[in-house]
Amino acid sequence: MAKKMFVDLERCIGCWTCAMSCKMDHDLADDEYRVTVRTNGSGAGIDRPQGVYPNLRMSWQPIYQKSCTWCAERLAQGLPTMCEYACPTEALAFGDDADPESPYSQALARCVGRHYHVFELPAYENSRDGVVYATRA
Ligand code: SF4
Ligand code: SF4
Repeated sequence: MAKKMFVDLERCIGCWTCAMSCKMDHDLADDEYRVTVRTNGSGAGIDRPQGVYPNLRMSWQPIYQKSCTWCAERLAQGLPTMCEYACPTEALAFGDDADPESPYSQALARCVGRHYHVFELPAYENSRDGVVYATRA
């Protein structure tokens, strides 16, 4: 049994609201982040997709840092994690991986049912443990 964050990458629009809401809620310094958002598949320039039309590709991926606390103080008050709460597309779902009714388990089951590719980041990324991603296979 462990608390985990599920990230549906098909829902992530790269808005950075998770990162900024975390900074606001935890009063972090300007250069301090507990989650950042990586752009995958970006071509030359800012936010230009890779490839040639109509075969263009760009996607985003929240990367949780080891400094992330899973919002321990919010959970103690019965509140959701701030990044999950603030995400406008419901790309994030946090909860107990042993509880089939938790938001984490429900979101995972939804994506597995759609035959998404489910994965975690490799150790060399040095990111927080307990983050599970899914994307269209
Ligand atoms: S996880 Fe949600 S809040 Fe974060 S960048 Fe993606 S869509 Fe925005
Ligand atoms: S779970 Fe809480 S501490 Fe961790 S990145 Fe999200 S808002 Fe920040």
